[in-house]
Amino acid sequence: MITNSQMIDILKAIAAKIIEEKDFLTELDNEIGDGDHGINMARGFGAVVEKLEGMADKDIGSLLKTTGMTLVSTVGGASGPLYGTAFMKAGAVLKDKNEMDANDLVAAMEAAIGGIQMRGKATTGEKTMLDALCPAYDALKAGVEAGEDLKVALTKAVEAAEKGVEYTKTIAATKGRASYVGDRSIGHQDPGATSSLYILKVLLANV
Ligand code: ADP
Ligand code: MG
Repeated sequence: MITNSQMIDILKAIAAKIIEEKDFLTELDNEIGDGDHGINMARGFGAVVEKLEGMADKDIGSLLKTTGMTLVSTVGGASGPLYGTAFMKAGAVLKDKNEMDANDLVAAMEAAIGGIQMRGKATTGEKTMLDALCPAYDALKAGVEAGEDLKVALTKAVEAAEKGVEYTKTIAATKGRASYVGDRSIGHQDPGATSSLYILKVLLANV
């Protein structure tokens, strides 16, 4: 079970991790994009932490919705609307909930990915955050459906996301800014897949 206050801690821990990895994420984006992914994400999650002040009594759905809206309004670049939509969709699934279980997490992640796909019109194999998130979701869902403990299922999800990030090195980008450099993007890991992996790792560390 994840409670409201745990969710606030998770969101703050995600922000801390993203801010810690800001330079690395920006470096990755320098190779195949415009070198702002870390800057974008750190700005967005910095604003999220400020917004979370005074939200201690809010339900999990509201926390995630506010996170998403804050990301949309503060992050320049493709990742803002994409992650923003993801958190807003997850928030809609968890509306009015003051605690969430493994099945809730599966449903929230499914909605989050659906939001990213609706907004970005991408699918797996295009060198985006979806190459980390989709295999992670599949592993999480399979584990939860098999009755595994959330921590065990999430560990497998993180492993799947790690593989997904590795996979992004082997393919060319066909969506987003990195698609402009075409085959030159091969050999480089996708910044958005990397930030998605960090988010999942923080989730695992806090359940
Ligand atoms: P921008 O590309 O506008 O500079 P960022 O650098 O913040 O935005 O984010 C880049 C990341 O966004 C990419 O590494 C990729 O993972 C993700 N991304 C870009 N376009 C899409 C899309 N259409 N669908 C899913 N993810 C995408
Ligand atoms: Mg960029």
